[in-house]
Amino acid sequence: MDGTTHMVPMSVAEKYIVERKVRMRVLVVEDDRSLGLFLQKGLMLEGHDVEWVGDGDAALDMVAQQMPDLMVLDLGLPCRDGAGVLEAMRRDSLTTAVLVLSGRSEVQERVRCLDLGADDFVLKPFSFHELMARCRSLLRRRERFADPVIRFGGVELNRMERIVLYEGIPVDLTVKEFALLEFLMQRKGGCCSRSELVQQVWHSDNDAGTNIVDVYITYLRKKLLAVHPEDLTKGSVIQTVRGSGYRLRDKRSAARVDALAREDLRVRDTSGAEKQFGYEQGERFDEAM
Ligand code: CA
Repeated sequence: MDGTTHMVPMSVAEKYIVERKVRMRVLVVEDDRSLGLFLQKGLMLEGHDVEWVGDGDAALDMVAQQMPDLMVLDLGLPCRDGAGVLEAMRRDSLTTAVLVLSGRSEVQERVRCLDLGADDFVLKPFSFHELMARCRSLLRRRERFADPVIRFGGVELNRMERIVLYEGIPVDLTVKEFALLEFLMQRKGGCCSRSELVQQVWHSDNDAGTNIVDVYITYLRKKLLAVHPEDLTKGSVIQTVRGSGYRLRDKRSAARVDALAREDLRVRDTSGAEKQFGYEQGERFDEAM
């Protein structure tokens, strides 16, 4: 097994992702759980990475951390209402495109949201197809200005050309391996949980009883290792976060940490001999494979 997926027929959603040039990040802010999950699923099937939160404060935290390309924002929300979220975002110069979703039909309400910096406004109840078309329109505008290249930890991933370079050397990846690496890279070293990866990369809500993420992480590590065999001793650029998931290691900062650790962890044992403590060496070996 080498991780090749060519033998497996692609689902409609996967075909769409292949045809799309750039995956965008979308945040759905909606306190109605069933509507929030419905929108998340719909936008994921359009080929985007989608998070859903149910209150205004969580929305602001998420925007500041992840800088999504598009936010679908309900107005009536707990903690902080949609207008408050919009106002705070624009005050902090957060440029995520915002589509307001509201049950309030008054013209003044629409004018207020657009003046606060909303990019579009859709009234509830809405047609799902129209909402998706409006999201596509906002994302197309965004795509024109988006940098297609993500760089992190020595890896350069071009979302437009679908090319991956590791320290300048091309790495040939399957569709799923590319999508998995792209999601990890978008987090810039932040941890991605297994359930999040199953949801965003495989478009499934159920990660119980499957080790698909671990299997594909192994494929990716092997391909990256084939390009840079010295990672076998240094550890893979894809790190395991015990009990949580995976993240990418920034190789340059990790090298500095390693150098400091080697200096600082030199201690004398009771016999007076200098002893150097291992620095996560067992884990690094695991990660290389
Ligand atoms: Ca609401």
